[in-house]
Amino acid sequence: MRIYTHPSCLLHDPGPGHAERPARLTAVVEALKTAFPTLDWHEAPRATRGQLLCVHDDTLLALVLDTTVETPTPLDPDTFLGAHSAEAALHAAGAGIAAVDAVMAGETSSAFCAVRPPGHHATASVAMGFCLFNNIAVAAAHACERHGLERVAVVDFDVHHGNGTQDIFDTDPRVMYLSSHQMPLYPDSGRATERGVGNILNAPLQPGTGGETFRTAWREKLLPTLDSFRPQLVLVSAGFDAHRRDPLAQLQLEADDYAWITGELATIAERHAGGRLISMLEGGYDLDALRECSVAHVGAILGRPLRLRDEDPVNTAQATKMNTTRPRPPARVAVMRNNAAI
Ligand SMILES: [Zn+2]
Repeated sequence: MRIYTHPSCLLHDPGPGHAERPARLTAVVEALKTAFPTLDWHEAPRATRGQLLCVHDDTLLALVLDTTVETPTPLDPDTFLGAHSAEAALHAAGAGIAAVDAVMAGETSSAFCAVRPPGHHATASVAMGFCLFNNIAVAAAHACERHGLERVAVVDFDVHHGNGTQDIFDTDPRVMYLSSHQMPLYPDSGRATERGVGNILNAPLQPGTGGETFRTAWREKLLPTLDSFRPQLVLVSAGFDAHRRDPLAQLQLEADDYAWITGELATIAERHAGGRLISMLEGGYDLDALRECSVAHVGAILGRPLRLRDEDPVNTAQATKMNTTRPRPPARVAVMRNNAAI
C-alpha cells in the first residue's frame, strides 16, 4: 500500500476560522506515521492541464490556476482561493492520477491520498464546498481514458453528498457512483431517486443516524449493487465528517464503522479488481476524529481479508505471503482510542 501526499497541500489556506484548514492534513499525516511507521510514502506529482480537462472545463482551470491572489479570495461563501491554492489543487488531483498509474502498473494494489483541498463537490465548471478540482473524478476519468477501464466505482461515505462527482459521471456508464450521506444537508442533492443512467445510487441518512443504520444501508443496498457492478477499480471518497464528533453534521459514526465499511470495500476490490483500491481524503473537521478514522481506514486496507480469485495462483501465493506480515486493524484502533492525543 502507498500513501500519497505533498507539502503544498498544507499551504492552501482558506483563511482564519475556516473548517477546512491545514491542521486537518497535519493530523492525518502525523497519526498515520505514528500508527504505521513502515508505510510507503510517496510525493504526489502535479496533475497536468490535459488530465484535468478530462473532467473540468477551461474556465475553471483558468480561474484556479491563472488567477493571482495574495489573500484568501472567495469563489463562493465556502470556497476560497489563496496564494498557494493552485499548487495544492494540482498536487491533490495529481495524487489520484499517480495512484491510478501505480495500481494499474501493478506497483502496489492500494493507496491512500492524504491531500487537500478536498474534491467531491467540484463540478465540471464550478469550484464549491471547499473543493477546487474534483480529485476523485479526475482519477476515475484517468482510469477510463488512459487505462481503458470500463467499470470504475467511486464510493463516497463523506457525510455530504458528492454532487460534483455524481454530476460529472451521471451519463457515463463506465463509472458507478455510490454514496451514503446525511440529508437534509449541504449541498441538498443525493436523493434516492437520482439514478443517472442506472450508474448512480444514493442512500440518504437522517440526522442522528448511527453506525447500525449506516451499516444496514451499505449491507442491504449499496454493497450488493457495487458487487453486481464488478468494478475493475474501486475509488473511495473518504470523508470522515460522519463521525459523531464532527462539527459540520449530525451523523453518529465511530472509527469502527469506518474500519467496517473499508473492509467491505476492500473485500469487493479483491473479488473483482485484483485488490485495486484507491482512497482519497475528502472531509472531516474534528481533528481527533480525523486521527482515529484515518488510522482505522488505512488499517482496514492494510489488513483486508483474502478474497482472491481461485483461478489466479500467482496472486494467491503473493497475497498469502503479504498477509502474514500485515498489521491487523483492530489493535490499531484500540491504541488510538487510548491515546487520543496522538
Ligand atoms: Zn463532507
